[in-house]
Parts: sequence; C-alpha cells; structure tokens
Amino acid sequence: MKRIGILTSGGDAPGMNACIRAAVRVALSSGIEIMGIRRGYMGLITNDILPLTRDEVSNIIHTGGSILESSRCPEFETDEGRQKAATTLRNQGIEGLILIGGDGTFRGGAKMAEKIPVGIIGVPGTIDNDVYGTDFTIGFDTAVNCAIQAIDRIRDTARTFERVFFVEVMGHHTGFIALHAGMAGGADSLVIPEDRVGIEDICSRLQEGHRLGKKSAIVVVTETENPGYSYQIAQEVTRITGFESRVCVLGHVQRGGNPTAADRVLGTVLGASAVQALADGKKGVMVGIVGGKQKYTPLEDTWEKEKELNPRLRQLVQLLW
Ligand code: ATP
Repeated sequence: MKRIGILTSGGDAPGMNACIRAAVRVALSSGIEIMGIRRGYMGLITNDILPLTRDEVSNIIHTGGSILESSRCPEFETDEGRQKAATTLRNQGIEGLILIGGDGTFRGGAKMAEKIPVGIIGVPGTIDNDVYGTDFTIGFDTAVNCAIQAIDRIRDTARTFERVFFVEVMGHHTGFIALHAGMAGGADSLVIPEDRVGIEDICSRLQEGHRLGKKSAIVVVTETENPGYSYQIAQEVTRITGFESRVCVLGHVQRGGNPTAADRVLGTVLGASAVQALADGKKGVMVGIVGGKQKYTPLEDTWEKEKELNPRLRQLVQLLW
C-alpha cells in the first residue's frame, strides 16, 4: 500500500487529533504516503485533499476538534455523491481509507467500498460511546470529565439553595455519558433512554431522599432529539413535589476542550492500529479495544449490533444515591 487517506466525519470528539497524528507518523515511518481529506465526506466529493506531513501534525495532540474539520454530508447518502467520492479516491490513487467517526460514518464508507477496491478501516470517534466493538470511543472520557466538572460546580449551588438540579448531558439516544458522569458526580437519579423512568419515579426518589434528610439533589438527564427536554421534567417535578428546581443544559461544551490523557492514549493507539491494519491488508473492519485487547469488528456490526451499558454500573448507580 503506497498511499492512504484519513478523514473525520460526524460529530467531532476530543482525541481525534491525537489519532490523526499517530496515523500520520506511523504511515510515514512505514513508507506510506497519507492524505488528509477535509470536512469528512464533503472533502471527498469536492476533492479537498492535502498531503499530511510530520510538521502538519506537530503540536496538535493536546487539542480538541479536528484539524481536518468534519461535517454531516447528506450528498454522500446519495449514489451520485458516493460516485463522486469514489472518483476522487481513484484519481488521487488512494488505496486505503481511515474513517474516524461513528456508525453513520462507517455505514457510508462501507456503501462506497461496495463500488471501488478501496480498503476501509473504521476508528470509533464520538463522545457518545455508542459504537459496538469497543469499550470506549475517542472523546467519551473527555466529555464525561467535562460533565462531572459541571456537576461538581452545580452541587455547590444546589446545596446552598436547597434545590433540585437537572443536568442535561449529550448521548445520542444512549445513556453512556449520563451513567458515567452520574456515577462519578454522585447523582441522585438518572434519566436515560435505556430505563423508561417516569416522572412519578423521579419524584418518589427525590421525596424519599428528602425524607432521609437530603437538602438538595442532582438528576442527570440524557438529552433527546430536542435539547432542553429537562425543562419539562423540572417543571413537572416541581409541580408534583413542590421542590424548587433548576436546569443546566451542558450542550456543546461537552464536545470541546483538551482531550484527557485517556483519550489521547486511545486516539494514538487506534490511529496507529488503523494504519497497521491497512498495511496488513485488512479491510471492512473497525479497530477497537475490548477488555484491554485490540479487536477488529466487521463494519456492519457497528450499526447492526447494539452496545449495552455496563450492567454493574447501572446496578451500582441505583444503590449509591
Ligand atoms: P456521531 O456519532 O458523532 O453522530 P456518525 O458518524 O454516526 O457520528 P452521522 O451524521 O450519522 O455521524 O454520519 C456522518 C456522515 O456519514 C453523514 O453525514 C453521511 O455523509 C454519512 N452517512 C451516514 N449514514 C449514512 C448512510 N446510511 N449511507 C450513506 N452515508 C451515510
């Protein structure tokens, strides 16, 4: 393999730059040329591509976002769009492609690879951690740390004013961020898509806590398609219980900032593994880490199989409020 490409697609996640850096340095040291494709699949469609050098990836390991930028690209979901992208790959002589993103990105890449002989390797990069085939995705740890910093701060004011605080975190239909941030932040209750918790359940738990002497409470909520959903919950809870409530929607602050050490290490290891996988002739797989060991997962499993929340953590969070 003489020339490969790399892109970041879908939501950005801290640690993507560490991944790009590792992929570039491992590729160049193996004598493989590596091209950076800008703005995800948009860059393939518009031929927005640049060769990456060692210098290009200097001083980026500590930065959030993606130096290659990202996009959601509806055009790539059409046959014509993927055809244009395939033509660019052919013209550029790119034989292998590293996709850093979520299952949507992998699904698009796999469809394109049905038409042209290009090796596709996926790298799980999303703050939501909702990708089957890896214990953790790049960016998840940083997002959880961002959420617990916010929860710690909110705890001070919640305690002082004897309020119930609803802290809304991201998660894209899954409770990974809420579960980990809720546990690490000592939340009293979680509202996650995996548990069909009703308003009455939240109220009775808060009332029980109050009866036991708790003067304030923190409830961590996974955002739905409509961020701000917590305002409705808070209003209802106040109406039923009479407890004063406030809401904090964390939103996009969870996506930015310097990656944690864990995300830098994960990004680095997976970036290096992706290049190695291409050099070994692998294709159509995602590289991940499961139980501390490197694992290749067929790309189709990433959208066909569902990753479950850790049952032990779910059980513990029910006990430790
Ligand atoms: P995140 O988890 O951060 O949202 P993602 O990779 O799942 O990341 P998506 O927006 O679902 O994010 O996908 C990124 C891009 O991949 C889309 O904008 C589109 O260009 C392409 N894509 C997604 N799904 C498909 C599909 N079914 N067919 C073709 N292309 C797709």
